[in-house]
Amino acid sequence: MAHRITLIPGDGIGPEVAEATMRVVEATGVAVEWERVEAGERALAQTGELLPKSVFQSLGRTHVGLKGPTATPIAGGHKSINVVLRKKLDLYTNFRPVRILPGVKTRFQGVPIDMVIFRENTEDLYSGLEHEVVAGVVESLKIITRTASLRIARATFQYVQREGRKKITAVHQANIMKMSDGLFLKCCREVAGDFSEIKYEELIVDNACMQLVMRPETFDVLLLPNLYGDIVSDLAAGLVGGLGIVPGANLGEMDAVFEAVHGTAPDIAGQGKANPTALMQSAALMLAHLGERDAARRLQNAIESVYAEGKHLTGDLGGAATTSDFAAAIIDHMR
Ligand code: NAD
Repeated sequence: MAHRITLIPGDGIGPEVAEATMRVVEATGVAVEWERVEAGERALAQTGELLPKSVFQSLGRTHVGLKGPTATPIAGGHKSINVVLRKKLDLYTNFRPVRILPGVKTRFQGVPIDMVIFRENTEDLYSGLEHEVVAGVVESLKIITRTASLRIARATFQYVQREGRKKITAVHQANIMKMSDGLFLKCCREVAGDFSEIKYEELIVDNACMQLVMRPETFDVLLLPNLYGDIVSDLAAGLVGGLGIVPGANLGEMDAVFEAVHGTAPDIAGQGKANPTALMQSAALMLAHLGERDAARRLQNAIESVYAEGKHLTGDLGGAATTSDFAAAIIDHMR
């Protein structure tokens, strides 16, 4: 039976990378029935709504989504669609594996970077609770709860145990935000107590950023509240060749939405030169989540072979291939 998947192409480069990704998923031979729905600026133009009901209706049926990036206006305008979607579906784990692909030239040549980021996805300063106290003074509320902190910590430790990884580094600023980050850290320690065989350490976020740049190979699995997780994800993407590469998944108890770390890349949108690797690697995670482990492996292997060959890379990695050329090279390798 075909897997039903909600496809949200999104804005900017979203439709281009989504199209390329659909092609490679179909080329794995796995039967897929895409339910295409719009969210973001395209949805607003077509339906008058940024996040139409059809998105939730479709995800209510499929429970699995593949999503392109959606635009969020800066310093005003509508809320982030991602924040709303993640909160509404309670997709509390943001999972981002960061790994160097063969042949990619970075400043860290020969350094074996292979880390996984677990970012809490539903609260912290992304609760969107801001108000003006008096003229010229605004307050933004950082919400940290025991429930959300315990469940992201548990998800992280369970993953490390299941996958046989080595170490978890919890990242915080509890020296300054003693209550909020303090509670996050207390919850991480509580869960660590149930997994005494797993190495657990803590780093203050500013030090963590410095160490990530100086010694990225010493990190294994990072566990962070929402805001630090967002910032550190882009930093980590920079270590392995940029935002064109790093995939992600938003996971809840019932639903999962797979999407790249990158945004809509307005500077290159519509030019056919976006790198679809990040969404393709997200799709490989999605196939594994659907139980299609063999197809996931074949897609991932094909991506790595195309990188090792280095002939069909996109402009962000110094190549001349278009988004579509890259997809064709992946499909050739899978054949
Ligand atoms: P961005 O990730 O869109 O772009 C940052 C830089 O990386 C740009 O130079 C861009 O060209 C490059 N880049 C990103 N993805 C690439 C790819 N696949 N191939 C080649 N180059 C790529 O970040 P931004 O410019 O800060 O944000 C633009 C918009 O995206 C904003 O509206 C922001 O809110 C939104 N955004 C959405 C998501 C999401 O939907 N998950 C995530 C982050 C940002």
